[in-house]
Amino acid sequence: MPASRTGIGYDSHRLVEGRPLILGGQRIPFEKGLLGHSDADAVAHALTDAILGAAAAGDIGKLFPDTDPQWKGADSIKLLFEACQLVRYRGFTPRQCDITVILERPKLGSHFTAMAETLSEATGIPVSAIGLKAKTNEGMGFVGRGEGIAVIAVATLEEA
Ligand code: MG
Repeated sequence: MPASRTGIGYDSHRLVEGRPLILGGQRIPFEKGLLGHSDADAVAHALTDAILGAAAAGDIGKLFPDTDPQWKGADSIKLLFEACQLVRYRGFTPRQCDITVILERPKLGSHFTAMAETLSEATGIPVSAIGLKAKTNEGMGFVGRGEGIAVIAVATLEEA
């Protein structure tokens, strides 16, 4: 059996007015969006870190520093794709991921199919091996107050 490696990723961004809400490459209709140097797609960022972490290949901030103007407003799905190219170059193939988005609003369930398709295209992971879930934080903390959104992701890579 080929060796497998697992990585974890976490990301959070502040919810503010005047920004589009982009999660998993989808523009989600909502009155606020996530603040960040890139498009602030916390789903793509957490998954990117999980994939990089599994390969012990650093993290998204190291690969695509937010001090670098070339990543300003960047499409985070492209960064995810680039990170997958890097781990493939190092001999790993992304096989599976599981993602939990923690937010009070909006409801995300109707966007999961489109998100999974976009994440599948970027990573090469089949849609059937991409888990997507949303949880509220029961009104507690920064998520509970609607100040931000957090995402936790786990990814498994197969070693060639
Ligand atoms: Mg981020």
